[in-house]
Amino acid sequence: MSTSSSAINARMLRMRLPRVCVTIIGKTAAEMIEKAEQVARDDNSFIEFRLDYLSEPASLLPKLKGFFEYNPHMILIATCRRKKTGGLFRGSIASEVDILTRAASAGCQLVDVELDTASKLKDRDWDKLRKHGAAILLSHHDFRATKNLEKVYAKMSQYPADFFKIVTTAKELYDNVEMMKFLATKSDERPMIGVCMGEQGLISRLLSLRAGSIFTFGAANPGEETAPGQIAARRLHETYRIDQIDISTRVYGVAGDPVGHSLSPAMMNTAFRRENLNAVYLGLHAKTMKDLMHCVREIPIHGLSITMPYKESVMRHLDKSDPLSTKIGACNTVIRSQEGKLYGFNTDVAGVLRPLEQRMPIQNAKVLVMGAGGAARAAVFGLKERGAEVYVLNRTAAKGQQLARQAHAKFLQRGNLSKLYAKGWVWDCIINATPVGMDNAEDKTAGSEKPLLTDKELVTRYVFEMVYSPAETKLTKMARARGIHVIPGIEMFVHQGARQFEIWTGKPAPIEEMHKVVLHALEQRTAQAAADKNNKKKR
Ligand code: NAP
Repeated sequence: MSTSSSAINARMLRMRLPRVCVTIIGKTAAEMIEKAEQVARDDNSFIEFRLDYLSEPASLLPKLKGFFEYNPHMILIATCRRKKTGGLFRGSIASEVDILTRAASAGCQLVDVELDTASKLKDRDWDKLRKHGAAILLSHHDFRATKNLEKVYAKMSQYPADFFKIVTTAKELYDNVEMMKFLATKSDERPMIGVCMGEQGLISRLLSLRAGSIFTFGAANPGEETAPGQIAARRLHETYRIDQIDISTRVYGVAGDPVGHSLSPAMMNTAFRRENLNAVYLGLHAKTMKDLMHCVREIPIHGLSITMPYKESVMRHLDKSDPLSTKIGACNTVIRSQEGKLYGFNTDVAGVLRPLEQRMPIQNAKVLVMGAGGAARAAVFGLKERGAEVYVLNRTAAKGQQLARQAHAKFLQRGNLSKLYAKGWVWDCIINATPVGMDNAEDKTAGSEKPLLTDKELVTRYVFEMVYSPAETKLTKMARARGIHVIPGIEMFVHQGARQFEIWTGKPAPIEEMHKVVLHALEQRTAQAAADKNNKKKR
């Protein structure tokens, strides 16, 4: 086929390309086809077959005919990336060209050629690749960084390709901005695909599309990612609603270090979808505050949930914060105004007060808060402001005393608890605002730690457990066994999120849906942890 007619083909193809290309891997050709059929049934019409994952890449080709018969609308990319350029294929460049040519003859409309390979191709190789009308997707992967984009582009421009795909590694959030700026300048010249890999590349996986990237890649199933940071296609569609992302989509996110475990993206995207808002919520793994602030201004990001370790340090970057956040000295919610001003709030307060006030009057309630960190500060200041009688108990006495003094609460020595009980004292609520009881990958001991109080010391109507992962802690089990009502950490999590939603959107939050999705995610996590434990035992 001549270069000009193949260019027309490529232009027409471009107009048909969906936003997500699902990458298929497998050990055998049959397995790959089975997965492709499943992906097609799930309403995806764009697939990349990673032939290099097969020990015999050509073994898939005869099966493609049958696949096309049942799925004539599908668009297929054939990729047979050599080991040297980040793939698994051990053959020569000549065999790569041969396999790709046969894939094109079997109906693949695009063939992927890595830049390094392109530099070694002869004219006759290009002719061969084009012979069956396939478009050429010229790829470049940088597994280390996001740099030299212009240089790479200039190099790519030397070759007769129809699509340019540049995939780099995000070392910081701002790399996504670099990628998107680059795409915005080049996508008028060429059909471009641009993505940053890595956990920090999530922004580009979703937002590059509005900077000019024609599509993005998704894994066929969780656990089958072919690049670091790749997301399962179903999640791209269902959680992030990738098909609706456009220039007016408002961007929100949870910023912290780490954020991979956060349930906020699932919860907030559910809320946005339920309320039909053109908004997306991302996990923003920020290694530094500077990096985060850079992105807030440039992307721009309309609202942030702030998590550890930035709840306090973010205060310095705000134009204004509400009086309670100022007193607490920590903020977990940022909203960016139209003029770019940043306002901070602390919705952990609502996370504590709302579940409580649904159960009891807060005025004059006798509450014991265990802990003196950020969450405890939100609880103590919030409760004091609503007229509760608050006591603080903390491992480091000086910190507990300081909090009690600042909030006009009382400090309680552990030893004085029994004296109170001897006088018939009963708490309305005991709040655990420490991580004791939490599952924590970094601190393997935390989940197994004993609760801070013995069961006899739980002389209270309610136990409020701030820890939400796991959904049931030793403390909540102990309380339930004594017939004490429990307010689980998930309620605080959902209510603090609901308040964020209200601040950002001015609408009431769909709290039931938010609760449902978080509970489901926690149950899945618990089931997964149990399965992992079982598998470990078997081994
Ligand atoms: P933080 O600022 O690090 O404070 C932790 C507090 O817990 C400190 O007072 C610390 O005492 C105490 N502590 C830590 N380990 C302890 C141990 N082994 N024994 C006794 N005391 C211990 O943490 P944070 O941000 O306040 O968060 C506290 C907990 O609340 C975490 O589990 C977090 O996940 C949870 N939380 C939940 C929600 C929700 O939505 N459900 C929201 C925010 C926080 P020292 O002063 O002696 O170090």
